[in-house]
Amino acid sequence: MSEKKRLPRVELPEGVGLSTRALREGLPPSQWGENSEALYLTSSFVYPDAATAARRFADEEEAFTYSRFSNPTVMMMERRLAALEGTSGCIATASGMGAITLLAMGLLRAGDHVVCSRSVFGSTIKLLGDVFGRFGVESTFVSQTDVGEWRAAMRPNTRLLFAESPTNPLTEVCDIAALAEVAHAAGAWLAVDNCFCSPALQQPAKWGADFIIHSGTKYLDGQGRVIAGAVCGPEELIQSKLLPVQRSAGLTLSPFNAWVVLKGMETLVVRMKAQSANALAVAQWLEAHPAVARVHYPGLASHPQHALAMKQQSGLGAAVVSFEVKGDSPEQLRAQAFAVLDAAQVCSRTTNLGDTKTTISHPATTSHGRLSEAQRQAAGIGQGLIRLAVGLDDVADITADLARGLDSL
Ligand SMILES: *Cc1c(COP(=O)(O)O)cnc(C)c1O
Repeated sequence: MSEKKRLPRVELPEGVGLSTRALREGLPPSQWGENSEALYLTSSFVYPDAATAARRFADEEEAFTYSRFSNPTVMMMERRLAALEGTSGCIATASGMGAITLLAMGLLRAGDHVVCSRSVFGSTIKLLGDVFGRFGVESTFVSQTDVGEWRAAMRPNTRLLFAESPTNPLTEVCDIAALAEVAHAAGAWLAVDNCFCSPALQQPAKWGADFIIHSGTKYLDGQGRVIAGAVCGPEELIQSKLLPVQRSAGLTLSPFNAWVVLKGMETLVVRMKAQSANALAVAQWLEAHPAVARVHYPGLASHPQHALAMKQQSGLGAAVVSFEVKGDSPEQLRAQAFAVLDAAQVCSRTTNLGDTKTTISHPATTSHGRLSEAQRQAAGIGQGLIRLAVGLDDVADITADLARGLDSL
């Protein structure tokens, strides 16, 4: 059989760096030679003849046929993200939750078991625990930081370990290499949700993770414009296990959203460094404020996994800082936290993160509001907790904004 005809790649010198890849990976330009990537808003693609169509549908020739399967703009985004993560493959999805759905549908079947950190994003707990639970996939939720709990939760039918690091909103850091070892010793896969660091700071594949989950909605877009997601991993597994599900299930990313994320990734490295530096300054300021009981930020020496975080995250803490106000009862804590949010005049009161605009939110009543009180307690999300996703605002304006609320408590 002749070699399968593949789509061409961008020609870059061997070994170019992360920042260059973030700007240039993708498909070669069209015949017009555009320097900025084109946006291909087309649902289908025309074949030169019927025999070519047949070959393309039989998967004997790699080409674009229908945008539910693939699209040039979406593929450019996929290739760029894979290059940044250091994986051979990537498949884009309509949202970050769509990425986790595609991963689970592609890898798991009824009777399989998943071990997942209990500190992951609230919707992830709902999706794995409740939704996939209804389809016969059981999940055990364990400590984010105690590898022994992961090992103890393993069963003969455990197929997938799912972690997120740092977590939302408490920024707990897990040891990716240690979890990869637990997974691989049992013949299971490790998936890591890399939203908070992005590949600019952390490449989970380097520490042994098999699959990397992204919400492109966050730092990849970086300016709070679109919903998008992706799974990165070995090309062979993406082709054999995820793509067939994507073709049938249609969790597809729109070309327009892919284009926004693609252009966002061009500034990812500088944004992540600048926002991390701002976040560290804000975290240090918060730690010194008398109305603050505790600050959660991996870049602070007081963070329980500070050393591990610095090792895994290129020496930076990323841009999310959470802190707890002081108070005696849940009611009082909530009132104090609400007072800080409501005093903000610069920070946007919104639950999104990853934006260049600093955002402030109250996880217990918003992003984690759908969890039961018991699940919330287990995840350590108290009523006094406030999450800041630090952007590119002047640090002095962010701290002045927080002082308006904190000084009044
Ligand atoms: C936002 C987020 C998701 C979900 O992404 P969507 O694009 O909103 O579906 C998953 N994991 C983490 C850590 C997130 O912050």
